[in-house]
Amino acid sequence: MAKKGEHRIKIGLVCSACKSRNYITEINKMESPDKIIFKKFCNHCRKVIDHKKTEKLK
Ligand SMILES: [Zn+2]
Repeated sequence: MAKKGEHRIKIGLVCSACKSRNYITEINKMESPDKIIFKKFCNHCRKVIDHKKTEKLK
């Protein structure tokens, strides 16, 4: 029996301008394309900006 959530992975979200990793979130690896963009607020840029995923959490 397949466990619920087995395809969920943790990813970081990095600001596309200053490259700060501002968020960690979980996505469904099976459904999410590689080029995934989240509109999030960046504390460094002080505005809402595109964040790209990174699998590096450090
Ligand atoms: Zn930024």
